[in-house]
Amino acid sequence: MTPRYKRVLYKISGEALMGNQSSGIDPAMLEKVVSDVQEAQNLGTSIALVVGGGNIFRGAALAAQGMDRVTGDHMGMLAIVMNALALRMAFDQRGIAATVLSGLTMPQVCEPFSQRAMIKAREAGDVIIFAAGTGSPFFTSDTGAALRAAEFGAQAILKGTQVDGIYDADPRKNPKAERFDTLTHDQVLEKRLGIMDAASIALARDNDIDVVVFSLHETGNLARVICGQGTFTTVITTPQP
Ligand code: UDP
Repeated sequence: MTPRYKRVLYKISGEALMGNQSSGIDPAMLEKVVSDVQEAQNLGTSIALVVGGGNIFRGAALAAQGMDRVTGDHMGMLAIVMNALALRMAFDQRGIAATVLSGLTMPQVCEPFSQRAMIKAREAGDVIIFAAGTGSPFFTSDTGAALRAAEFGAQAILKGTQVDGIYDADPRKNPKAERFDTLTHDQVLEKRLGIMDAASIALARDNDIDVVVFSLHETGNLARVICGQGTFTTVITTPQP
């Protein structure tokens, strides 16, 4: 298999880490992520991760109950750091060096994000786990993924989801839903497909970063998708005339 990307950012939601549990972190899912990343790295592709926090906390949920949104978002970002630490531990246990770079500063827990720290970790060959999203409230971890992908120099954001691509309706609710093979970032925005928030899609578009949406459930899918094999949807920048 020949990789079509040299450097990628792998985005998984916090909910993906729940596995079959109703909340929290399933150790089997951590193991799976580590195996998938290792397999992708063996292709020679440089890979960094962004994880979400929705399995633990979302700021909007607190705001919906009349509480302060900014405090809620800070709590959501702390949830992301918890997931990132669990992932780092899982890499450590396999003897794979991993570094958590956080958008919120907490030096006793993990390294603060900076471009220099990122380059150092990348040159050392560590798996980088970007944590705490953008570090600012009112954003999502998808926007954090687009931001860090641009800073990391990733050619693509690989978004592992519950389904095998972007559909015109929710395929789990509508059996007639059709999957797109290819879309442009602008089409995703115009059609309001909701696979990622608008800010993250616009940031990916403006930095010419592909977004590849695929199912994280099948074993070995990450490496296959990096090589352009299997089922997925690719979001690409509109080709210049
Ligand atoms: N969050 C934030 N700023 C960011 C990223 C995340 O405030 O840049 C907060 C926000 O409250 C969000 C929560 O962290 O709901 C968890 O992130 P997200 O919902 O994106 O996680 P996912 O859906 O990927 O599990």
